[in-house]
Amino acid sequence: MWAGGRALIRERALGAGSLALLRVNRADGFDCPGCAWPEGKDQALDFCENGLKAVAAETTSKRIDTDFFAQHTVAALSAQSDYWLEQQGRLVRPMAYDQVSDRYLPISWERAFERIGSVLRALPHPDQAAFYTSGRTSNEAAFLYQLFARAYGTNNLPDCSNMCHESSGVALNESIGTGKGTVTLEDFQATDCILMFGQNPGTNHPRMLTTLQAARRRGAEIIAINPLREAGLKSFIHPKDAASMVTGRASPIASLYLTPLIGGDMALVKGMCKHLLEAEARQPGSALDHPFISGHTTGFPDFARDIADTSWDAIESGSGIPRNALIEAAERYRNAPSAIACWAMGLTQHKAAVATIQYVVNLLLLRGNIGRPGAGACPVRGHSNVQGDRTMGITEHPGPDFLRRLGKRFAFLPPSAPGADVVETLKAMHAGTIKAFIGLGGNFAAATPDSAFAETALRKCSLTVHISTKLNRSHLVTGREALILPCLGRSEADLRNGARQRITVEDSMSMVHASIGRNAPAGPELLSEPAIVAGMAKAALLESAIPWDRLANDYDLIRDSIAEVVPGFSEFNAKIARPGGFYLGNPAGRREWHNLEGKARFITAPLESVPLRPGELRLMTIRSHDQYNTTIYGLDDRYRGVKNDRKVVFLNAADMRERGLVSGASVDLIGEDALGAVRKAQAFTATPYDIPAGCAAAYFPETNVLVPVDSVADRSNTPTSKFIPVRVVAAGSQGN
Ligand code: SF4
Repeated sequence: MWAGGRALIRERALGAGSLALLRVNRADGFDCPGCAWPEGKDQALDFCENGLKAVAAETTSKRIDTDFFAQHTVAALSAQSDYWLEQQGRLVRPMAYDQVSDRYLPISWERAFERIGSVLRALPHPDQAAFYTSGRTSNEAAFLYQLFARAYGTNNLPDCSNMCHESSGVALNESIGTGKGTVTLEDFQATDCILMFGQNPGTNHPRMLTTLQAARRRGAEIIAINPLREAGLKSFIHPKDAASMVTGRASPIASLYLTPLIGGDMALVKGMCKHLLEAEARQPGSALDHPFISGHTTGFPDFARDIADTSWDAIESGSGIPRNALIEAAERYRNAPSAIACWAMGLTQHKAAVATIQYVVNLLLLRGNIGRPGAGACPVRGHSNVQGDRTMGITEHPGPDFLRRLGKRFAFLPPSAPGADVVETLKAMHAGTIKAFIGLGGNFAAATPDSAFAETALRKCSLTVHISTKLNRSHLVTGREALILPCLGRSEADLRNGARQRITVEDSMSMVHASIGRNAPAGPELLSEPAIVAGMAKAALLESAIPWDRLANDYDLIRDSIAEVVPGFSEFNAKIARPGGFYLGNPAGRREWHNLEGKARFITAPLESVPLRPGELRLMTIRSHDQYNTTIYGLDDRYRGVKNDRKVVFLNAADMRERGLVSGASVDLIGEDALGAVRKAQAFTATPYDIPAGCAAAYFPETNVLVPVDSVADRSNTPTSKFIPVRVVAAGSQGN
């Protein structure tokens, strides 16, 4: 927690930050703007180090005002690091980009909305605009935003989920008929086994470690599966455990740790399935839940054939894990009466991500581990309301029922043609067919793949608008016209007509609850996200009968509309008046399978390996412990032994020797896509690390430049940021 404390000092937020920390994650407080791990019981000081950093970053007393922009051209700011930009403080007034002086100049809200309205009204077709959403956006702002985009006439609603758990949604919808996790926190308190795929909770969902520690102490198996041996998965000292804090004695987390090759997860899961089927054949009834399989599933025979046809050799070479270790994992899973499978980007950002996640579901189905206590699927979301935004209709593929109810509620005909997701939006902006980009939160230019391509695409726009709390890279990649619209933070009081407004969020486990900010806003000119959306909508839709102001001035009215349009939200205002909110429920969690077959499906796919050229390694992009998505809080990564360096590449020692590289050597990472186009990330520090041979890891956004825009997961179109073929060569050597 010292690191967190330093963040409060660095942000000069000891006052406002400490006040906010007394309220974060409390039933009558505000929701941490960090990840989407659920709150659980209402208790004081229930936040992790990264939650503390997120609150410190938001409650900073540093301000960016007109003077700052007067002193810095966009070109000068572009030369600064993402860390430096983050450190400059809170945005406090709307700014408009002036091409002549290459500076941002102050603009009034009215004038800003007018500019946005006139550009949008002038576009020949609504599909020439894109409305991007980051996962920090509240349910109320998200619902109003999708209403704006659809009333404007487009489904171009790309969101950060396209780049993270889209593969989970596609896979789960096909396998079990719902795109969300099926478990609750209570299931974690009851389970006998937790499988952790491609996730680093110590940095990305730190309070999950409390849950894992409790499960391990209860005797549950925790099987960690990650190419990197992450500190938080090995052991944990709970900050509220004074004895451990003093003695430094950490309690173990993983009971078994497998480090597969990057992209080796499907082979690994097939190996576990193969052992279970072979064990079942040797001792019928000892491994599989036949009543569940026959009563609730379809596709088992094809699946069993696929597994039988997959050799152990292919499994061992594909996963990089020896057979006996796979059998060990499968045995521990078999001996556990109930089990939960968790995963994050380590599974979702691969070419075969959807098929791999469906194999994880197959593994759960073999033992009936869905829809009973202590069992189920748990994609762990990385952004506090990314799941809620999707529930509110932030999707480029809206369902016909949702559109029908929306149209009925607001008396208009929403567009039904599918819109553009993130990668499609990038390509359309680059091609000039999308000309206006509006970003509700987030840092699109830094978060997206193929950074050079993304920046060119944004610069081709006639208008770029970013609704933000702090300065970031995207503000500096301007369209011909560019606007920065500063909004309130989660911790801040949102008074509309003198009435304090509450917002709502939905966590990874479908719990929906209220969030109320009470800190003084960072500036008198700040507006809330709903108010900004309403301002843009009114300016763009001059004839609209939708009562934008009434909705933006009383969020209860937004929730009344949500109650009419979104299933599961009836009596919404009453439900969130209850401390802790309510559980949305999950049909698959009740063993109701809302897919075409009306059954949970065993879905098979061949083991595929991404071709590598000689000398290429499999690179995965990762977060340091001092970052949250593209927000860089600091330059250290203490759990991996890195100090004051963001351009680090973790390499296997033997791979370094083979390339004549010593620890600390300066190297270039060179990627060549399927068309032969070369991308470079230069001057990285070669760092030996416990990672399988042939694999490498480095931080994003610095290595997003290496992810080709066309390199996406099948069917989910998610960028393959976890598997990028690269050559690592001495800096400047061009790698001859
Ligand atoms: S675990 Fe996630 S939501 Fe909870 S305090 Fe930490 S960052 Fe915030």
